[in-house]
Amino acid sequence: MKYLSFILLLIFISCKTENKSTKPVCNKPPYAIVIHGGAGAISKKRITPKKSKQYKAVLNAALDKGESILKSGGSSMDAVCATIEILENSHLFNAGKGAVFTHDGTHELDASIMDGSNMQAGAVGGVSVVKNPIYAARKVMTNSAHVLLTGNGADEFAIKEGLGTVPNDYFDTKRRKKSLKKAIRKELEAHQETGYVYPWPEFKYGTVGCVALDNQGNIAAGTSTGGMTNKRYNRLGDSPIIGAGTYANNNTCGVSCTGHGEYFIRYAVAHDMSAQLEYTDKSLAEAAQNIIHTKLENAGGKGGIISIDKCGNVVMDYNTKGMFRGYRKPNESDVKIFENE
Ligand code: ASP
Repeated sequence: MKYLSFILLLIFISCKTENKSTKPVCNKPPYAIVIHGGAGAISKKRITPKKSKQYKAVLNAALDKGESILKSGGSSMDAVCATIEILENSHLFNAGKGAVFTHDGTHELDASIMDGSNMQAGAVGGVSVVKNPIYAARKVMTNSAHVLLTGNGADEFAIKEGLGTVPNDYFDTKRRKKSLKKAIRKELEAHQETGYVYPWPEFKYGTVGCVALDNQGNIAAGTSTGGMTNKRYNRLGDSPIIGAGTYANNNTCGVSCTGHGEYFIRYAVAHDMSAQLEYTDKSLAEAAQNIIHTKLENAGGKGGIISIDKCGNVVMDYNTKGMFRGYRKPNESDVKIFENE
């Protein structure tokens, strides 16, 4: 009997050892950075080779900035903010300068940021005069006792903190004005004047986000957006909601999302990624597959995510036609819009 128990114990130990050895080895690179510039019904017809070049040039410029900070030993938090600032200052993306219009023809911007080293987070919703909302989110995190400030109060706080402001029409672009007109027309045609239904699938997203891992092993994630065209009633999407549009935890991963925000809020998508890594044996890619292609897809939720785990694995996944995206690691670089280009 004793002999049998001993054999069983040996089998048990060897199984355990085997399980351990199948887990992926953590080869953390000195740094990693990933960005998105929105996912959606991006049509190949409209993204001409010239336009594709323009988008990719800005995505690369943003990655250059973030990578240079990380390479020189800077923090993931600084890298995320500086990278997002470049995307916010570009008229091409639905964040900062290129933000979409509300139903009333104005702009209300949302942003959030999270520091995975200490689980601190900050966010702003519906700001209208802050030039770079990502820095307002950071100030909420570092200089207030709160996580989320909204509307005029958030603007007031950002001004008090000395952040740069612009008149609301600084965010105007002809292209976004056209989209608003089209959305209102569609809404009237469909008798959906309540603003609860957006003209999906023609609607195109363009939110921006960034996740970075620095040489200290600290993960930061941030997201910035103008929200959805034709929004009203001070609607907020997932982007300023920690756990929905943005999340970071040094023990698991950092995440930034883009897509139809109402779904991302209900499915707590950014936190779901982290929870899957914390509570299951799933890899980062498997976790993304599960939330984006199974849970969201089954619910009818469209969009994408970018993520980096504590080992420096990078994921850029989406269930739409395309997603503006790119990443860098030492000796690795990629920028794409569609599946292979
Ligand atoms: N998620 C954003 C929102 O719902 C939109 C986007 O990603 O483009 O406000």
